Amino acid sequence: MVTLYNQDLKNFNTFRISALIEKVIVIQNDEDFKKIDFSGIINKTSVLLGEGSNILFVRIPKEIILIRTKGIFKSYENENEIHFTVKAGEIWDEFVEFLVSNKFCGLENMSGIPGTVGAAVINNIGAYGEEVSKYIYKVRAFSILQNKQIDFFNSEIKFEYRNSIFKNNTEYIITEVIFKLVKGINCINVSYGNIKDYFNTKPINSFNMRHAIIEERRQKLPNYKNLGNAGSFFKNPIISKEQYQNICSEYPDLPCFIINETSYKVPAAWLIEKCGLKNYRYKNTGTYSHPLIIVNFNNATGEEILEFSEFIREKVYNRFNVLLEPEVIIY
Ligand SMILES: Cc1cc2nc3c(=O)[nH]c(=O)nc-3n(C[C@H](O)[C@H](O)[C@H](O)COP(=O)(O)OP(=O)(O)OC[C@H]3O[C@@H](n4cnc5c(N)ncnc54)[C@H](O)[C@@H]3O)c2cc1C
Repeated sequence: MVTLYNQDLKNFNTFRISALIEKVIVIQNDEDFKKIDFSGIINKTSVLLGEGSNILFVRIPKEIILIRTKGIFKSYENENEIHFTVKAGEIWDEFVEFLVSNKFCGLENMSGIPGTVGAAVINNIGAYGEEVSKYIYKVRAFSILQNKQIDFFNSEIKFEYRNSIFKNNTEYIITEVIFKLVKGINCINVSYGNIKDYFNTKPINSFNMRHAIIEERRQKLPNYKNLGNAGSFFKNPIISKEQYQNICSEYPDLPCFIINETSYKVPAAWLIEKCGLKNYRYKNTGTYSHPLIIVNFNNATGEEILEFSEFIREKVYNRFNVLLEPEVIIY
């Protein structure tokens, strides 16, 4: 365990919100869990962080606790399937790279997503037609209230679109994630959008998929090291068929993904753009050319960004009668 004092919060969140943090505790191994007083997490003076890529600081915590535990171990194998137990502090994209280079298939569509392996569970991260929940066998978490490790099987985690029982839950710290993956490089999902065009000239395999996704993300998304952001600020709303038909009567080009007979998922970016809020500047914050991404142009505060997000929600609601829900955790 390492303890640092008087640190700038800017270095621990991708929105680059700046503030003085009295104490930063770095958890480096499982033994550290027994030494740390986690009561600040329960009474909300302390916050747990991976890479800080899915959080907006509106309040400023006294203390942050960084999960930096490392380790990737094979925990089960048969002819077709392999399980890896991964410590929560491993960097997500390094784990994906490890799998692709060792010819294990499944996570390549989620290449390039920032953050840690532990936090990937919290929000059930996803991209290009895949979600991490599909590949999770079990999660091990430390219960602050019971002072012990507890295992959660996939079905107990109640995964939903960008949600799980761990989101906004202050009792559990995820310590390990056990993934189940397929052996080989050819079990690739090319169903999403125009990603299949990339394979007109190249063989479909996990190496090429990872390459295609990283390239596409590099072109589409701002680099948070230069322009603070936390990826998509809002979830794509799920609306009723009736609501969808109402909007379509005025905007027949509304894209959608049919979830079932009564529910349709529509792109929040499209709704925001139709409200004239693409590349929109609001004080020190604003939207990027991908309008779902709110960026910190110049030392914006958390309050300013939250205020802008409320402004977007109001505009979208007034025009489409659809209430956007933040994907980012607001602290
Ligand atoms: C440029 C950019 C692109 C992105 N693209 C995508 C994308 O394509 N798809 C997608 O789904 N997301 C995307 N994101 C969002 C983000 O990368 C993910 O949500 C990521 O999993 C967050 O990981 P983190 O370690 O940074 O979590 P943090 O932001 O540090 O933490 C998020 C939350 O989880 C809690 N937490 C962190 N670690 C633990 C733990 N071990 N146990 C319990 N609680 C914990 C924190 O307290 C906090 O509430 C993007 C973000 C950025 C900046």
